[in-house]
Amino acid sequence: MAIYHRPAQNLIKPSDAASWISCIRRAWLNKNLTADFEVDAFNQLLFDTGLEHEASVLAKLQDQHEVHHAASVDHTRKLMQNGVAVIYQARLLNEQEGLIGYPDFLIRHESGQYQPADAKLSHSEHKKNIQIQLGLYRRLLANELPAMVFLGDGRTAILGNETDVLADAFITGMKELLSMPQQPAVRYSHSKCRICPYYTYCRPEFETQEDLSLLYGVHGSAASHLTDAGISTITQLASSDVETIPDVPYLKGPKRKQRAILQAKSFLSGEIFQLNKVELPEGTWIHFDIEDNPLTPTRERHVYLWGLLAPPYSNKDYDTIWTDDETQDYQGWIRFLEKIEQYRTQYSSLVLAHYSNHERSTIKKYSKRYAMQDHATVLWLLGNDSPLFDMQKPVLDNLVLPLQGYGLKDICKHPNLVNFQWENEESGSQWSVVQFSRFLTATNLQDKLKLKSEILGYNRDDVVATRQLEEWLRSKFC
Ligand code: SF4
Repeated sequence: MAIYHRPAQNLIKPSDAASWISCIRRAWLNKNLTADFEVDAFNQLLFDTGLEHEASVLAKLQDQHEVHHAASVDHTRKLMQNGVAVIYQARLLNEQEGLIGYPDFLIRHESGQYQPADAKLSHSEHKKNIQIQLGLYRRLLANELPAMVFLGDGRTAILGNETDVLADAFITGMKELLSMPQQPAVRYSHSKCRICPYYTYCRPEFETQEDLSLLYGVHGSAASHLTDAGISTITQLASSDVETIPDVPYLKGPKRKQRAILQAKSFLSGEIFQLNKVELPEGTWIHFDIEDNPLTPTRERHVYLWGLLAPPYSNKDYDTIWTDDETQDYQGWIRFLEKIEQYRTQYSSLVLAHYSNHERSTIKKYSKRYAMQDHATVLWLLGNDSPLFDMQKPVLDNLVLPLQGYGLKDICKHPNLVNFQWENEESGSQWSVVQFSRFLTATNLQDKLKLKSEILGYNRDDVVATRQLEEWLRSKFC
């Protein structure tokens, strides 16, 4: 539960950029109603991994230069005046402009001026918030030198004047926000709001207003255009005709409009609407789900668990390919391909059912990683008569459900839909990554086995859930 209070200072910080890009209401609230909220275990893991990366960059710089740790804005200024080679955790302030920044490093250039540098886990220097942050450091330093980014993939990227446009837009936008006495009006975004610390603060307002953007498939921009056209609530949309709804961005054509109307009806009544008969492929179904770790030292996702559920689908039939760490990545991939070949021999017509595109795209990435695009099993898995079947597709194509998101857990956990509950209520893909990270660092064998067993239990429930979803679809919509 978040606790809100008014922050003491209203300086613009580069770290405001992420909020500003995601939602201007969030950026405004950060300045007016700071939320003290508990950081979840996954974000803490990301934070800790970021610190590790920063420490490794620091160690490299210390090998080459004398590095001075700055303790304050004044101390940073002094260190710069003294011309030290590298300043760690620098603090830069421009009171007149209301800007403050904390570059990880200031590195002295041969000209005597300083270049700002940050360590980032990202593989890309083109991300908007990186461009804004580094652009702002350059603004605070007021020189022409480019900024540096020590990226997660080991590259050092250089960012120069190209960051100015974004940095200018950010500063202007933030100044406007700071001058606003009232929070800015925004639309709901399921992907952003449900992970936002202000969710419980904002959500009741959207609900009271029956904001159209609460509906799955109705983009915030479409909601604003519909409001301009006189349809501003979910009730109004539910009672509209396709013909009376104008074409607006993200909501064009009768099919999409009809779906939006049904989504509004479903939201209000909890009713399920079937658009077409659900067609499922014939054959022996094997349910398939992977768990992968994005936080490897190389930042190449490591699949630590390939989980499969074959007939007759009891817990005993759950089969796994597990690898203890990324050094076994290749062996895990090969064992997965061998397992698929075993199933292929065993069942003449095989369907490998998974939910969303992640499994297919991971197989593609692995085949590329190990230059195995021409491997017979890979060609079959990714070819024209692929056994892979994404179960999200028939759901999205044929059903309108009383949901805001069409993820596996949204559908399966809903008591009026599949109504399958995971044994561990807290579990999820990010939870699994956190448990695996604990598995990697655990030194006690008992702890390791316990963590592994919890991860396997979660993955088994995932494949049991897709099996339950299959049965639900067959019993009601085929
Ligand atoms: S809950 Fe949504 S609307 Fe509110 S601040 Fe967060 S992202 Fe913005």
